Amino acid sequence: MKVIVVGAGVFGVSTAYHLARAGADVTVFDRDDAGRATSAGAGIVCPWLSAREDEAWRAIAFGAGRFYPELVAELAGEGEHDLGYRRVGLMVVPDEAAQLDAVEQRLAVRRQVAPEMGVVRRLSAEQAVGLFPALRPGQPATHIEAGARVNGRLMAAALLRAAQKRGAEVRQGSPEIVADGGAARGVRLDGQVVGADAVVVTAGAWAPALLAPLGVSLRVEPQKGQIVHLRLAGVDTSGWPVLQPMNGYYLLTFDDSRVVVGATREVGSGFDYRVTAAGQAEVLNVGLAVAPGLADAELIETRVGFRPMAADELPMIGAVFGIGGLFVGNGLGPSGLTLGPYAGRLLAEAVLGRASEIDLGPYDPLRGCGAYMSR
Ligand SMILES: Cc1cc2nc3c(=O)[nH]c(=O)nc-3n(C[C@H](O)[C@H](O)[C@H](O)COP(=O)(O)OP(=O)(O)OC[C@H]3O[C@@H](n4cnc5c(N)ncnc54)[C@H](O)[C@@H]3O)c2cc1C
Repeated sequence: MKVIVVGAGVFGVSTAYHLARAGADVTVFDRDDAGRATSAGAGIVCPWLSAREDEAWRAIAFGAGRFYPELVAELAGEGEHDLGYRRVGLMVVPDEAAQLDAVEQRLAVRRQVAPEMGVVRRLSAEQAVGLFPALRPGQPATHIEAGARVNGRLMAAALLRAAQKRGAEVRQGSPEIVADGGAARGVRLDGQVVGADAVVVTAGAWAPALLAPLGVSLRVEPQKGQIVHLRLAGVDTSGWPVLQPMNGYYLLTFDDSRVVVGATREVGSGFDYRVTAAGQAEVLNVGLAVAPGLADAELIETRVGFRPMAADELPMIGAVFGIGGLFVGNGLGPSGLTLGPYAGRLLAEAVLGRASEIDLGPYDPLRGCGAYMSR
């Protein structure tokens, strides 16, 4: 089976890898847009903490949580070890200690179906600052053992290389989709048509523009995030846990004395790829309030990414109704580095016509659209 994948963010490269692994003949096209979400994403992997309660969210989030260590081991078998992935644990740090009771109750319920989150325990302020030395004093926390972080750039590059090792071809460029007679036939780039049995669109926040000429209206919008990278020179931050205040912001660290503080959530941003004074100030103010020990850190870069947000904030995985051979993977929103590797496997299975371990109905790419309603 010949499959074309358009878009090589984490969703596309995972789809390509799983397709190639299953023996499909895969070509990946990508144009490396500024603001690719996968390149800007913080890298927190802790799907059990979300306050969302709907079953569709739980199925994909918990599935992704189970799948991550499996994939990391599998990639090691493919010779891919450099993912920036590490199970450093995650600490929830509230404004008031009483908020931790509710968090721990929610996690205790979820732990019954997702024991892979590991041990959840309350930490005293001394224990918390022992794990994350820049943390403000007097701050108790709840610690989730299996919380992890990953470097999105490295993970995506590893998946793409693993796909290539299994025969996938990678091409730079921005093709248009060729469709006739109610089916996708391939893509056209520089006047040349490349035929395929299936075309998979994993083009993140840019996907609506690619699909519009086919009459497909994808309900996805970019949500800009500005995220600050600091360096604490001479400090080994490699084992510090992810820090999750309860205000939507977060801090996490990597091996090169790097501390990442994020992020803005700019609804209605369009593709405005600028670091702004207000965005920078917002993130740094929150970060320094929770971790004043970072005041002297060096600001090394600010990244900008466009989260692909579905109207109902649920991923899109599957075939496009009404156009044979056309598939979409999108809507990973703020959680794509967590969900993307698993969602890519699910999408690959859908392309191959294989049964999925979860019901993909709720992730129909055209749900909520006229075409979906009229089915
Ligand atoms: C600031 C920030 C922090 C985040 N933090 C986290 C986190 O801590 N944990 C987590 O799980 N998730 C996080 N995310 C979310 C995660 O990064 C995204 O959900 C995920 O990366 C989306 O992946 P994607 O492959 O769908 O899209 P993208 O990564 O945006 O990739 C889309 C690709 O398609 C290409 N493309 C688009 N149009 C075309 C075309 N016409 N032709 C060819 N190529 C095309 C683009 O160039 C791009 O390479 C964060 C995101 C941001 C912005």
